[in-house]
Amino acid sequence: MLVNNNLYKKSSKSQKIRCEICANYCKIADGNVGVCRQHKNINGELFDESYGVVSSLSPDPIEKKPLNHFLPGTFTYSIGGFGCNMTCLHCQNYMISQEYDKVSRGIKITPEIIVENALNYNCKSIAWTYNEPTIHLPFNKKTSLLAKSKNLEVIYVSNGYFSQKSIEEVLTFVDAFNIDLKSMSKDFYKKICGADLDIVLDNLRRIYLEGKHLEITNLIINGHNDSIEEIEELCDFVVNELGPEVPLHFSRAFPYYKMNDIEPTKHEILFEAEKIAKNKGIENIHLGNI
Ligand code: SF4
Repeated sequence: MLVNNNLYKKSSKSQKIRCEICANYCKIADGNVGVCRQHKNINGELFDESYGVVSSLSPDPIEKKPLNHFLPGTFTYSIGGFGCNMTCLHCQNYMISQEYDKVSRGIKITPEIIVENALNYNCKSIAWTYNEPTIHLPFNKKTSLLAKSKNLEVIYVSNGYFSQKSIEEVLTFVDAFNIDLKSMSKDFYKKICGADLDIVLDNLRRIYLEGKHLEITNLIINGHNDSIEEIEELCDFVVNELGPEVPLHFSRAFPYYKMNDIEPTKHEILFEAEKIAKNKGIENIHLGNI
């Protein structure tokens, strides 16, 4: 599927393209794909190779996203695709985000079927989740607008690595976000995730200022982002730059993908994080994967 040309720029000198769908701003030569491996330069035009291809579809309790303060007690219709714009070594969903060539390539579906399924399951919302939704902007937007016309709310479970263009677009059709704030260390984001912390923080501020429903998840990884100082810094960011009412989820990590040598996060660290968050004034704290 040809991507709308307001989402990429052509070079005047070569057939290279600058994709502007996410904050990687990949410069893609003819015949190549970007970091997410979903977008390809074909003869100087950008194509979305996985338009409408999904890896997973499921009605889920909304608390599983996790969102505990948005339409509580309802079901959301979850949709996931393939690929990611980050390359996290600890990815807990790596089979669909990074190593999906090893599994079947999913099924093709239309926005109409997704919305019909959501209504048939009596869901109150649809949720773009499982893999990173940012990279599927054109398909997600089309489906989400149809969902909203049928009174379904729209949820993004995301790493927050939006480009400037995509955050503006996403804010027009998403009602609630759970953003994964992985660490407060620039080094962690660079070395472990291949990304830039400052962009994620800016997008969090933007979502909050826009008045959208926002919850944050911090996956605590043994020996990597579990220091008291870092948890304190993360809580300070939430309280001072967003608001103490923004719900914060601390979640346990397990050995997966390229971090298969870590110990599962100890319960005690999550309890300690909960205590720190409470002391900092965060009003809604949830512990996950325990
Ligand atoms: S969506 Fe992001 S990762 Fe994928 S090609 Fe575009 S800029 Fe690169």
